[in-house]
This record gives sequence, C-alpha cells and structure tokens, in this order.
Amino acid sequence: MKIQMVDLKGQYLKIKEDVDAGIQECIDNTAFINGPAVKEFQQDFEKYLAVKHVIPCANGTDALQIAMMALDLQPGDEIICPAFTYVATAEVIGLLGLKPVMVDVNEDTFDIDLEGLEKYLTPNTKAIVPVHLYGQSANMEKILEFAKKHNLFVIEDNAQAIGSDYTFSDGTVKKTGTIGHIGCTSFFPSKNLGCYGDGGALMTNDDDLASKIRMIANHGQEKKYYHKVLGCNSRLDTIQAAILKVKLKHLDEYSAARNRMADYYDENLSGIAEIQTPKRAENSTHVFHQYTLRVKNGKRDELQKYLAEKNIPSMIYYPLPLYKQEAFLQYVEEDFSLPVTEQLCTEVISLPVHTEFDQEVLDVIVTEIKNYFN
Ligand SMILES: *Cc1c(COP(=O)(O)O)cnc(C)c1O
Repeated sequence: MKIQMVDLKGQYLKIKEDVDAGIQECIDNTAFINGPAVKEFQQDFEKYLAVKHVIPCANGTDALQIAMMALDLQPGDEIICPAFTYVATAEVIGLLGLKPVMVDVNEDTFDIDLEGLEKYLTPNTKAIVPVHLYGQSANMEKILEFAKKHNLFVIEDNAQAIGSDYTFSDGTVKKTGTIGHIGCTSFFPSKNLGCYGDGGALMTNDDDLASKIRMIANHGQEKKYYHKVLGCNSRLDTIQAAILKVKLKHLDEYSAARNRMADYYDENLSGIAEIQTPKRAENSTHVFHQYTLRVKNGKRDELQKYLAEKNIPSMIYYPLPLYKQEAFLQYVEEDFSLPVTEQLCTEVISLPVHTEFDQEVLDVIVTEIKNYFN
C-alpha cells in the first residue's frame, strides 16, 4: 500500500474518458492557444462562481502579479499580506517594486489577523491580500469594512480555497475569490481544481478592472500589435482548459470527498491532547486543500519523522515565516517577529487529504498517529 499526499491518478481514472476526449479534441483541432475550450471553461467557471468576469492565465502567481499590475500602484506603495502563506503572495508585491507588509495570522483558523491591521496601516498602504489558507475563507466582511474605511483594494489569494462559500452577516453567500476587487486562483495539479500542468485565473465583478486585466495578460494590447501598457504573456493552455472543464463539473463532489476525509481525521484524532485538529471558521465552508494539525508538545518534527518511517507522507506548510526568508529580509527590521506565525511554523503538519477516500489508508494513518502519542 502506497500512501500519497494527493491521489491524482485515482481521480483521473474516474474521469479518464471525458478528459482524454477533451485533450484529443484539442490536438485534432491543433487549437493549442486560445482554442474554444478556454472560453468555454471561462464561461462555466463564471457561472459556477457567480462572478461577472473570469480571466484565465498561466498560473496562480501570474494571477496575483497581474492583479497588482491592474491597480496602478506606485513604487513604494505598501501592500498588507499575511506572513504565514506561500511565497507567491508576497513575492509578486516585491517584484513590482511595492512593499509587502507582512502581518500575523489567527492561531486557530490561520487567516490574516485583523486586530493588528490598524497597526500596520500607513498613508502608503494601498491594498490588502487576504489568503484563504488551507481551504477556508478569511474574515472577508471585516476585511472589506476595513478596506472601505481606508480606501484600500482587496485582492483575494484564493489558490487554496476554490469552491468555498463565505456567508456575510446579512445572509449573503459568495464564493471565495469573488468577494474582493479581484480574486486570484491557481490550477496547479494538486490544488482543489487542478489541471495537468500550470494554470491560473483572475476573477472580478468590475468591468473596467476586467478589461485592464485582460489587456495586461496579453502584452498590454487591446488591438493586436498596439500596446497601451507594459503587460506580460500569461495564458491558460487550451489542453488545460479542456481538462478543467471536465473537472469543474466534479468540484463540489471533490470538496465533499475532502470533507469526508477531514471529518474522519477529526473523529479519530481530536481526542489526542497534544494535537489540535483544524478549527472551522465561523462564516466559511471548508474545502480542505490541506488538513493541518497543530502539534502542541514541541514534537512536530519527531512526529513527521515517525510517520515517514511508517511510509506515511506529510508536509509542513510553511516551515519559515516569510519575513525570515532571505529574499524578504530587506522589508523588515532585524528583530521583526510575529508570535503566532513563529509558533505555527513549528507546530503545523499537513496530512494526506484528497478526493479518493480509502478507509484502509485512513485507518493506517490515524492508527500510527495514535501510536505515536501513546
Ligand atoms: C499555489 C499557490 C499560489 C501560486 O500558484 P501557482 O499556480 O503555483 O503559481 C499562490 N498562493 C497560494 C496561497 C498558493 O497556495
């Protein structure tokens, strides 16, 4: 029995016929760039998300970069983002000559800590990038309130939470990625809606931002060979769009399967005093991109080693706060430190979670974790 973090092969075998047909059609038509499947997927995705515009692009990092480029920011402008996230969130900010202002996160839900936001606000602050980490939404209602008050843009990094629903206090429900000014997502193979290579998309309900984003992703041109602004070349391949078209139909079913796995872990692991199972955010559904435990007795690395010896894979997302990464030292004072981020980097461990529920595999995993703590 080989245990994997994600079972993409098992998932593929169940949709093989449709996926293969989609790929074959693309090859038959040699419509590799901007073929019909790109537009079709875009429209299906707009419908699924109930958003006015989806603009497909080459990957999730590009989506974030293009989003920042669309906001006409000036060098030195500050963008607030969590310090506990994947590097892409902050990397693009720095690449554009903007300043990433890294803030702490909540220890139970891992999303950006809003209490601290006022503290980091300066006259140069122009945007906030909440990250819907591990599969559930940040506190978007509060973030929007704060942003409105201080005239800030909100760019959602939704690479990990596609399909998740956020409920506002008035009962309005929106899909994550469609709540701020711009949402960004990734179709990296292991993401919840993953293709078979790289892919990404931006989402917005703003017509002007949508045209700008489309232009930037296409060399800054609206009309071929006439370039209004400096852009980039960022497209979703037709073959990837054909695959995504098939997989989008199964996305809700995939989220349910991930939840089934998470529930099973919860039931079997929540009794262990040394660990904390993932807390659900109040106003969000969870799509479990990751199932992430906190190991509270300082033995996270030991647990990981023990599991590895039993051939059970696990991952640490993320081992080092962004502000301690060499590339980001330039943005902080020497002794800069965020207590929750520091703590989480030593406590978190993500267990296998994917769409192919296998009782036998899950039993092995929970049994070994129980054994370790006994
Ligand atoms: C995966 C991911 C990205 C980047 O996506 P790519 O498609 O790999 O460029 C950005 N932000 C977060 C939080 C991610 O998990």
